[in-house]
Amino acid sequence: MKKKKIIILILFVFISLIFILLITRIISPKEIDDINPEIPCASGDIEKSEVLWIIPKYNNHSISENREWCDSILSLNKTLGMHGIYHNFNEFDSDKNQEEIKEGMKIFEECFGYKSETFKPPQLKINEYNKELIKENNLRLKLNFNQLIHKVYHCNDTGLFSNRFIDFF
Ligand SMILES: [Zn+2]
Repeated sequence: MKKKKIIILILFVFISLIFILLITRIISPKEIDDINPEIPCASGDIEKSEVLWIIPKYNNHSISENREWCDSILSLNKTLGMHGIYHNFNEFDSDKNQEEIKEGMKIFEECFGYKSETFKPPQLKINEYNKELIKENNLRLKLNFNQLIHKVYHCNDTGLFSNRFIDFF
């Protein structure tokens, strides 16, 4: 009998936590990762997101070379953050150097006219060395917890969970 009560209690706590998480994700501003002129986004996904995570240099093309694109993103009036530099797979899992980070920040600033204040590494992977580099550049790091409490879409729908699942949970 006692054992049964404990199981019911654990189940109740678990369901409550899931419910709280669901509510948090519904009321938190939506985000979208992998924003770059060369990555197609399903229509509506950018519009319904409040935070856009920008890749500064993709396929060796800097976003700052595409003035029209920079202006179109600026005109949406969203919060912008830097998402990797080149967005290679697990890009920040191996040691970066200051020059690369500064290059990414410079491209971002040339495109939008201001510096990014936040940074989200591709695949949310970053080693301790790179964490220090990011901190030295006054960028606030956003990792798994941020991803958990916000609905985060992906351009090209390449996230761990599909954009339509994110709509649902
Ligand atoms: Zn990404």
